[in-house]
Amino acid sequence: MIDLLRHRGIRNERLLTAMSVVDRKEFVPGPFANRAYEDSALPIGESQTITQPYTAAFMTECLDPREGDRILEVGTGSGYQAAILAEMGARVFTIERHMNLLTEARKVIEKLGYDIASKCGDGTIGWKEFAPFEGILVTAGAPDVPQPLLEQLGEGGRLVIPIGDMDVQNLHVIGRRKERYETRVVSGFKFVPLIGKKGWK
Ligand code: SAM
Repeated sequence: MIDLLRHRGIRNERLLTAMSVVDRKEFVPGPFANRAYEDSALPIGESQTITQPYTAAFMTECLDPREGDRILEVGTGSGYQAAILAEMGARVFTIERHMNLLTEARKVIEKLGYDIASKCGDGTIGWKEFAPFEGILVTAGAPDVPQPLLEQLGEGGRLVIPIGDMDVQNLHVIGRRKERYETRVVSGFKFVPLIGKKGWK
């Protein structure tokens, strides 16, 4: 899997090391365990998926988390992405709207020994108590950028979020410099929908 990520252009060595340490098999439900190292999204229940390894790597490379950064993840899902961020030394805060998924993710995170703050709720409104964040990573596709997430992004921080319709999204990498936001757009991603007050209804 790591060779494939290198082959597809992932260059961040800290990220590649973290992804070689965090065993994706731990986060994949039993019936799909033999496909854990495939470069594909896999079902995790509640009609949701664990993100494809290349997509998780690409988003993390765009986010570029540093040791000690406070990172908010919206869409815990299996907990895999959160574990990668924690393995890279970030302080991770993650929100999931499905309690069943969060319960399973928490079990794996605890088993692997990561210290990650998590809650069940609507991540489109962020997590104000712990803001500002050096990075915010949204792992579900939104119709627009939720304003609360822009507001909770710290000076010099980055928000990585797929924006588009229900079928296809472009990844927006938004950097904050004081009150100015600069956006880079990378096309052609497919995520499950971000459902919530500032997402899809
Ligand atoms: N990061 C996950 C992983 O590593 O397994 C991928 C998760 S999946 C692609 C996206 C997740 O976002 C789903 O579990 C979904 O339930 C969740 N989600 C969708 N809308 C949400 C919202 N408003 N707040 C929190 N989670 C949300």
